[in-house]
Amino acid sequence: MPDAEIIAIGSELLTPQKIDTNSLYLTDQLNALGVEVVRKTVVGDERERLMDTILGAVARSQIIVLTGGLGPTEDDLTRDAVASALGRAMVFRQDICDQIEERFRRFQRKMVEINRRQAYIVDGAEVLTNDRGTAPGQWIEQNSTVLMLLPGPPNELKSMFEKECLPRLQRLLPPQVIHTLMLRVVGMPESDLDQLIAPVYLRYPNLATTILAVSGEIHIHLRARSADAAQAEALIAEVAAQIEPLIGDRIYSRNGDSLEKVVGDLLRARHAHLSVAESATAGLLGGRITAVPNSSDYFLGGFLAYSDRMKTKLLGVPPEMLIEHTAVSEPVAKAMAEGAKERTGSDYALSITGYAGPEGENVGLVFIGLATPHGSEARRVQFPGDRERVRAFSTNIALDLLRRNLSA
Ligand code: AMP
Ligand code: MG
Repeated sequence: MPDAEIIAIGSELLTPQKIDTNSLYLTDQLNALGVEVVRKTVVGDERERLMDTILGAVARSQIIVLTGGLGPTEDDLTRDAVASALGRAMVFRQDICDQIEERFRRFQRKMVEINRRQAYIVDGAEVLTNDRGTAPGQWIEQNSTVLMLLPGPPNELKSMFEKECLPRLQRLLPPQVIHTLMLRVVGMPESDLDQLIAPVYLRYPNLATTILAVSGEIHIHLRARSADAAQAEALIAEVAAQIEPLIGDRIYSRNGDSLEKVVGDLLRARHAHLSVAESATAGLLGGRITAVPNSSDYFLGGFLAYSDRMKTKLLGVPPEMLIEHTAVSEPVAKAMAEGAKERTGSDYALSITGYAGPEGENVGLVFIGLATPHGSEARRVQFPGDRERVRAFSTNIALDLLRRNLSA
């Protein structure tokens, strides 16, 4: 199976304002065909550097996808640079020019002279239709290498890739099946997890294992490819059967579901209702819970009790308790959850109180409270990191505390 490389072209992609997202989409599409992306380059609208990049790519890769620089202006150099790098001429195509003109007419505009540039193709290229914009793409084969020139705007690129490039690639490549499994894990550091499972996955070099830390959780991606579907599936199953017991119930989903979705499903299955009382996170937890469609089936609402006074007024936390233990304490976390449960009439309630920092003592110290029909508890957690992380991770721990309680 040949490997691919992607070249994203555009000076804006080298500024702090804009990031190359096209390559993520393209990588996903190419992976699905069994093709690995082994190199990505972002290069500005500069002829010399672009030529240099293309020459390098042609020398080493068999599938090269270029995005951007197909516009009509002076800085759109992809066509020219590819032609020069391949030692081919540029050819003006009246039929493409007519199509562009026709497109302008359809939108009650008149084609300006510079758009004629977009009617030039690299000699020998196949034209790829752009049904979303004016710039046609190009498919070029040279020896055993194929180059795809695709437009930069993501909607144009996607449409063109799916309609024009996919069928051509499918014809070119041997059939491949890719089977994947994603395990989502919460409640353990990435390095601990890797130490635990590396001895297993390292024994399977024909299986791609990726471990990603994503906002306080870990996603384990297992990917097997084979000409035979059953074989790919069996390999994933064999490895998963060894990994899963090592991580146990810290795995919360196997199908891509988020933690808030899993918790919501558990609540719905019990016909139970949830409320929240948030201090340090002030709405982040409620926000996550309600990002799930139909969360009104189980979520009643909550309290944004940031000051001590609001903890008393909204949740009935006794003022003496706040003075004696401070707002960031186990008794207060419990009292907040109990208050929310009682005042909303929910079956379960979660609370979060903590120091998110960055200033002050005990930054990262958080108490998570859980009130249930069978009593309440609070958990003390000490997070590393900045304000944003402390707040985000607190919502993970809260949701996981409830998940474990509901799954017990
Ligand atoms: P171009 O084909 O170079 O004229 O690109 C037109 C527009 O597409 C740019 O202004 C960007 O907003 C967008 N664009 C170009 N390349 C990318 C990329 N790699 N990822 C995301 N957006 C892009
Ligand atoms: Mg550009």
